[in-house]
Amino acid sequence: MFRAIFLQKNEQGEFSAKVENLDESNLPASGDVLVQISHSTLNFKDGLAICNKSPVVRSWPMVAGIDGAGTVLESSHPLFKVGDEVIMNGFGVGETHWGCLAEKAKLKGDWLIKRPAGLSAEQAMAIGTAGYTAMLCVMGLEENGVKPEQGEILVTGASGGVGTIAIALLSKLGFTVVTASGKPEQSQFLKDLGASEVLDRTTLSEPGKPLQRERWAGVVDCVGSHTLANACAQTKYGGTVTACGLAQGMDFPSSVAPFILRGVTLKGVDSAMAPLALRQEAWRRLALDLDLNKLSNLSRVLPLDHAIDAAGQIMAGKNTGRIVIEMQ
Ligand code: NDP
Repeated sequence: MFRAIFLQKNEQGEFSAKVENLDESNLPASGDVLVQISHSTLNFKDGLAICNKSPVVRSWPMVAGIDGAGTVLESSHPLFKVGDEVIMNGFGVGETHWGCLAEKAKLKGDWLIKRPAGLSAEQAMAIGTAGYTAMLCVMGLEENGVKPEQGEILVTGASGGVGTIAIALLSKLGFTVVTASGKPEQSQFLKDLGASEVLDRTTLSEPGKPLQRERWAGVVDCVGSHTLANACAQTKYGGTVTACGLAQGMDFPSSVAPFILRGVTLKGVDSAMAPLALRQEAWRRLALDLDLNKLSNLSRVLPLDHAIDAAGQIMAGKNTGRIVIEMQ
């Protein structure tokens, strides 16, 4: 038996999320690597799944948890052997395949990466999909030639998981980071992470003109909607906007003006299905470029029994930083 966050819908379609004891024989047969999960985490997507807020879960019943870190217990995959330390992010785990908010998970070896030396399982989950996505955004800016001397980088959704890690990464890489947040009480925390200025997010979240005063050399946007539209409208000639999130909304009420008159690039970032080589490079860079003291300041550890309540906090927009879930 193993403990897990179990999501179910009964015959009437009523949803429930509970910590339950499950039989190991029910783990998905399609997995070829059995992992003892020591740590998982709560991302925005886990919040959506555990609170049944959007159709994240597409197969029922489901074990939640898109991310996990742990030790291989059994493997028939050629690249993994018993005792290997591994990380799982995305690939539909916790959505269509039983996930990692559980003491055990049966996963496909093709989805796993070896945990980089220098990162503990707890640190890997403090990073999780949110931090790995932040790194993909930073790499997206770099690929398009955005450099610190070109000017300020805007990070929206600043106090959340992606935002906090993006701030820590960008500031360590020498960028001047301006953040937009709805939590004025977290301004000092965001500055301690590396923000030079904290804007009130309402200055970006309302409808704005298609072209505005040029300010940003680059943007990491976690919130979408009018915020993303305004960020594009304020991006300097030739700048790059990386779009990874929808905390404000999935809509994008923009015009083509920033793209055709200022040559702005809008780069979409997806972590869930990113190819293995890209994810390995992102994790290599995280082990190199993330200040682990800042990571420890922006994350907290909770037991599995607290995960369902914490998911509700994420959905209420009250989360700051990253939440690691420790299995016992
Ligand atoms: P969090 O819940 O940790 O953070 C989201 C942050 O967005 C909040 O802390 C808040 O920051 C801000 N926010 C919340 N509600 C609103 C609102 N109505 N309007 C404007 N800002 C708002 O989530 P994550 O950081 O983990 O994820 C951020 C986004 O990125 C999510 O939409 C998520 O789905 C997406 N994501 C996408 C991935 C991908 O592969 N593309 C991977 C991971 C995440 P503040 O109070 O500081 O403004």
